[in-house]
Amino acid sequence: MLKKYLFLSLSIAVVLSLMPEQALSSENIRVAIADNQRNIVLSSPTGFVVEGRNSLQGERTLTVGAASVGSRPLRVRSAGDFIRVNKKSFRGWVELRKKKNGLLLAVNELDIELYLLGVVASEIPHDWHAETLKAQAVASRTYALYQKRMAEGRPYHVLATENSQMYNGRSGERPSTSQAVHETAGQVLVYEGELIPAFYHSSCGGHTEDASTVWDIKEPYLQGVDCDCQNISKYGQWERRFSVDTVAHALRRHGYPVMQITAAAQGAITPAGRVRDVAIRHNGGTTVVPAEVLRAAVGNALIPSVFFELELSQTGGELVFSGRGMGHGVGLCQWGAEEMAQHKFSYRSILGHYYPGTGIAAMEEL
Ligand SMILES: [Zn+2]
Repeated sequence: MLKKYLFLSLSIAVVLSLMPEQALSSENIRVAIADNQRNIVLSSPTGFVVEGRNSLQGERTLTVGAASVGSRPLRVRSAGDFIRVNKKSFRGWVELRKKKNGLLLAVNELDIELYLLGVVASEIPHDWHAETLKAQAVASRTYALYQKRMAEGRPYHVLATENSQMYNGRSGERPSTSQAVHETAGQVLVYEGELIPAFYHSSCGGHTEDASTVWDIKEPYLQGVDCDCQNISKYGQWERRFSVDTVAHALRRHGYPVMQITAAAQGAITPAGRVRDVAIRHNGGTTVVPAEVLRAAVGNALIPSVFFELELSQTGGELVFSGRGMGHGVGLCQWGAEEMAQHKFSYRSILGHYYPGTGIAAMEEL
């Protein structure tokens, strides 16, 4: 009896480990995973398959130099399951292209459902509530497909960085986030039947932002909504200090002729309470800088959001940012989604709250 039970659980374990292969969508995506490289090192313990050639089962490592790639891209995958590219593991094909500057671009091409396994785990803590992870999976799938539709003419659809969505390939996958992808397989967000750009961010600070104030996108489903993320967010309140020299130098690098800073204050405020622009007084006059430009100049990770108040320190040597939230504030708020999930809201309710008026549709039907 025990033996039979063991065999059964082993079979279940095998089936579960095969699940990623089975939940395919027949919709591929192309992800730029390395750019401007002289050499790219590929490895696979089971050997390689090179498109248009015999498989290289004896080879475990291939170092591909730009000089060895012709005008046609070189497409390689593992003869087994995973191929390592510069030490990270990926599913699907890896395409190496020589660019006009003579360097290599590596593109990972794979089914969008398999791509999402490596995205969701990289974009949200894997130990969060299952409904939060499912909301993230649907938002990420929608965002990826939207980017793909916008990418005509480019050799890839998305980047593997936060400029699109973080993607760490198979190396980044976690069981809980993979389950969220499987349980929502093929589901995307639509507004009046059209796919939406499903922006999301870490923590809004209490009210999400109208996309129109950040990027000039005016859509009813990207209007700001109330959010309870402040109850649990680790970005609830923060303070960051930078020397006036650091800020002046960062702004000069971005083309603003800011000299010795003598005062600073937030200017116009968005309806949600974020700072639109900042007035910097310095010994060359007063310069007005959009708050998101100032944030990017100093470092997006260093100033978590533009939901801040700004003042000069009493000594005059530092700029003090006191704020809340993390990220641009548009669309789904991850910490707010987690707060809703902890209060028993489903992923569908969560998505309906942050993208008002949208519904869920099957990717194949769009
Ligand atoms: Zn929020």
